[in-house]
This record gives sequence, structure tokens and C-alpha cells, in this order.
Amino acid sequence: MKKLVVVIATLIALLPMSLVGVGLLVSPAVFAACLSSSSLVVGPIPESLTATTRAGATVTLNHQQLTHAAIIITVGAQTESVGRAGIVIALMAALTESRLRMLANSAIPESSDFPNDGEGSDHDSLGLFQMRPSAGWGTVAELMNATYQSRAFYGGSSGPNYPSPRGLLDIPDWQHLNPGEAAQAVEVSAYPDRYQNYQPVAEAILTALTRRAETTPSGTPLGDVPETTAIVFPLPSGTWVNTSDFGWREDPFTGERAFHSGTDWSADDGTAILALADGVVSFAAPSGGYGNLIIIEHTIDGQRIASAYAHMWQSGVLVSVGDRVVAGQHIGNVGSAGRSTGAHLHFEIRPGGSNAAAVDAEPWLAAHGLQNLDAASTAALCSAQMAA
Ligand SMILES: [Zn+2]
Repeated sequence: MKKLVVVIATLIALLPMSLVGVGLLVSPAVFAACLSSSSLVVGPIPESLTATTRAGATVTLNHQQLTHAAIIITVGAQTESVGRAGIVIALMAALTESRLRMLANSAIPESSDFPNDGEGSDHDSLGLFQMRPSAGWGTVAELMNATYQSRAFYGGSSGPNYPSPRGLLDIPDWQHLNPGEAAQAVEVSAYPDRYQNYQPVAEAILTALTRRAETTPSGTPLGDVPETTAIVFPLPSGTWVNTSDFGWREDPFTGERAFHSGTDWSADDGTAILALADGVVSFAAPSGGYGNLIIIEHTIDGQRIASAYAHMWQSGVLVSVGDRVVAGQHIGNVGSAGRSTGAHLHFEIRPGGSNAAAVDAEPWLAAHGLQNLDAASTAALCSAQMAA
């Protein structure tokens, strides 16, 4: 019986990759987090934050300013097509225009009736983005509201100001503009260069305010486990035979009815065990009846999935906690440690992560294997993976 399932995850092509290709100076970990704008969830707002502008000036922002930044981030994360790149541009604009303060204006006495962080006096400009009622951005009441101003800045067909004045989403090809130019295009400012100066500060705010990556129980960061590029059957083709299914069975030791949380595939001692998918190792140690156990955290179809591999001898564990692995990587060797009656791989799929309950791996594999199966690329990817 042969079974080797490799799937090209076309899903990754459906993710908003364009959002991250805007030439922002982001770390690889941040880049991975950009794959989903839903990863931009604001966590606790710090009392203050100090960052440095491109020109080298130190900027210290207080809790109130950071609270306004949090609104800009949240509205951006909730607005389709904005993404991290658009949020950085909005923060750059608000930093430049108001230093993230909700400014009333001495020329509009009514504006000081609303909660504010001080008074400006530039034309009739109001609030975080210094939007002017006379230019059609909104009423005084609307513009003294941070959420409204954020929605107006992002614009687009669901924006309150659509179609004019133009928000960021209304600027053609804004993703390919330099971020400072994109901010200037919305603000129609006389000083386009000054926005760019705040880009490092905007990046620092976004990093500080958005939620920390999830971790495994052992502290391995999970927020940056990228979508897998492939799904590979965990044993090489032709090396194994199914000896026990997931579910209720007669326990091989006690003879009593017991629940079997995985699928057993018998294979010769020493047979290579392959990582199901790209991921991060969250456990690699002895674990009771499992003998030695490896658990890998994956992102598959946007969901957290853990795969578990058991009964290796200690010498058959070839990865450590925190290791990044790729689909098909040789991570261990089949053994018979723990509650085992002979050399085999006990394999589990845990949707939700390492602490979640296992499901039957065989239908799960079949469902994921049949999806997008392409014989030609499967063969090519198989050989590439096997060589890895
Ligand atoms: Zn088993």
C-alpha cells in the first residue's frame, strides 16, 4: 500500500501578499505576521513609548497619544485592503499632522466643546489628521472623533467621505507609492517629505501596540508560524502499514476497551519520520506512554494545527524545541519506546494546537491530500522534499 500525499498550498496565493510588498523595513517575523491583517490585534496600551525618527530625533508619546494610535490601528485592521502597510501610512500621517493629538482649533470655537488634547490654529484643520470641515472631510463633531477621522483617512468605498476628499484607498496604486508619498497624497500637504521622517516611529508604535505572538506551553513563539507550503505524509511511501486506527479499540496491553488518540503505522525500526508540514517544533522529549514525542505546530488553511509523532527511541529524535522545520523534513526515526508492542509511528493531528484534542488523522489527511493534488508538481515537490 502506497501513500504519499503532497499538496501545494495554493491558499498562500490567496492571502493579501500585496500588502506586505511595499518596501517597508520589517523583520521576517513581522513579515510573517502580515499574512493576515487579523493578526493586528491591539493589546495593552503602554503608558509611554519612545522612538527615533528617521532624522534621529527622539519622540516620546504618552498613553493618550498611544490610545489614538490604537484606534487608527484597529480601524485599519477592520477595513478591507488596508493591512499593515496602510496602517503604517496612517500613523505616519497622524504623527506628522498632530503628533497623534486630537486637536481642537482656535478658529472654530465649537471644536473645543469636544474632548481634545489641545488647540491648533492651522486654517480650520481638526483632529489627528488635521482634516478641514471646509474641504469636505466632515462636520466639526465628526472630525473631533478619532474613529471617524481614521475611517475618513483610510477612505475607500465604505469610507464616510467617499468619493471625495480621497482617502488612502482612493489613491490609485497607493501600495506602490513610497509610504510618505502615499500619506501626502491623502493629506495634500505642502510638505511631502516630512511624513517619511516618522516611518520608524510608526513602525515602533505598531509593533508595541499589537498583540504579542502566541506561544506554546513551552514558550515557543507561534504567531509567526507561516502558512505551510506543502503537506507530506509522515512516512516515506512503501515503508509502512496501518496497524491501528484512531478511536475505541481493545488496548493491546490490558485487553480492555480504551480510546486510541492516534493512528499507528507499523514500519521498520529506524524508518525516517517526515514532518507533516512546515512549522515550529513545540515539544521534543520523553512523554510517558508515548516514549519519545515530537510535536510540531503548523498553520494550515490559516488554522493552527499540531502534528504529533510518538515512540521514537531517544536517539531517534532529530529536532529540538524551537526548531523550524519544512514539510517532509526528516525529523526522527521510527522506534518502539513507551507503550508499544513493536516498531511503529503513532501519529496524531490536533486542530487548534498542541493542547487541543486529537482527531482521526486518516480522514484529515485524505481531506487535505485530495485538495489541490497535482501529480506533476507532486512528484517534483516530493523529490525536492525527500532530498531535504
Ligand atoms: Zn498508537
